[in-house]
Amino acid sequence: MSASEFDIIQRYFTVAPAREDIVLATGDDCALLSPFGGRQLAITVDTLIAGVHFPENTSAADIAYKAIAVNLSDLAAMAAEPAWLTLALTLPAIDESWLQAFSNTFHETAQSYGLALVGGDTTRGALSITVQAMGYVAHDRVLRRDTAEVGDHIYVTGTLGDAALALRLLQTNLLAGEAQHDTEFLLSRLNRPSARVEFALALAQYTGCAIDVSDGLLADLGHIVRASHCGAELELSGLPLSPALLNVYANNAENPDLQSVLTGGDDYELCFTLKPENAEPVEKIAEHLNLRLTRIGEITESDEIVCLDQQGAAVSFLNRGYQHF
Ligand code: ADP
Ligand code: MG
Repeated sequence: MSASEFDIIQRYFTVAPAREDIVLATGDDCALLSPFGGRQLAITVDTLIAGVHFPENTSAADIAYKAIAVNLSDLAAMAAEPAWLTLALTLPAIDESWLQAFSNTFHETAQSYGLALVGGDTTRGALSITVQAMGYVAHDRVLRRDTAEVGDHIYVTGTLGDAALALRLLQTNLLAGEAQHDTEFLLSRLNRPSARVEFALALAQYTGCAIDVSDGLLADLGHIVRASHCGAELELSGLPLSPALLNVYANNAENPDLQSVLTGGDDYELCFTLKPENAEPVEKIAEHLNLRLTRIGEITESDEIVCLDQQGAAVSFLNRGYQHF
C-alpha cells in the first residue's frame, strides 16, 4: 500500500494498551500478550465483505459495530470473556471521513465490551473487514456444541428473523411502506446486533451447550444435534418473533415467513440447551438482563430436527440456512 498506510495505522488504529494483560500492542511485528489466571484462550475470526455480509451502502459506523459484534457473538457462544482484538482492514482507497467514522465506532464498541485492539493489517483492495477476537474461558465453564443430551430443553434468546426481514425490505425497496419504529427496530437488528455476552457468561453455570445463531436457527441447531449425536423437536408456534416483524407481515396481510425466520441468518442470538431443573435460575438471569428468553423445543433421540406446527404435524423447510458456496 502507499506510504500513508502507516499514517492510517498511527492515526486511526493505534490505541494505548487498555488492559494489564497486554505487554505490547500495535507497533511491532507482533502483539505480546500475557494471559493470566490459568484460564483457556478462546479465539475466533470473522470476515465481513461488502455486498456479501452487509449492503454496499452500509455506514462506516454500522460496519465497524457489526465487525466486532459478530465476533463477540462467537465469544459469547463459548462463554468467553472478551479481551483482545486484531483488525485486518482492506480498503479500496483512503477515505479519511470513512476511516474517522469507522474507527470512532470501532474503538467505542470495543471499549464497551472490555476489548483492546492489539494489532492488525492494512491493505488495499475491495472493502473487507476481518476481526479476530480473543477471550478468556474457564475450562469448567465453557459452552460447546457437542454436549446436548436427550431430554434437554432448547432455548433461544431474543427474537429470530428480524435481520433477514430487514435485508429483504432493503433489497426490495419496501422499507418505506412500513411504520418508522418498526423499520428502525428491524434495521438495528441487521446493523447493530447485540452479542449476548453477559448472559452467556452467567448461563455457563447452568449448561455446557450453546451456539450462536448466525446462519439461521435450523442450520445452527443442526450443528448442535450433529456434534451431540442427537436430534431435536421444535415447536413452530412458539418461535420468538418481534412485534416489528409481526407488524410488517400483518401490514401486508401475510403470515410470518417461517422459512426466512428459521434460515435467514444474521440473528446473533444464543441457542442453548438446558436440563429442565435449571430453567428457573436461567430465566431469572435473562429477566434481570431484560432479555427475552423462549423455550422452543426439546433434544430427542432421533438424528434430525423435526419442526412441529400447532396441530403437531411435521413441517419441512427447503433450505437449511445461509451457505457461502
Ligand atoms: P508487518 O509488516 O509486520 O505485517 P504492518 O506494517 O502490517 O506490520 O503493521 C505494523 C503494525 O501496525 C503492526 O503492529 C500491526 O499489528 C499494526 N496494524 C496494522 N494495521 C492495523 C490495523 N488496521 N489495526 C490495528 N493495528 C494495525
Ligand atoms: Mg502487515
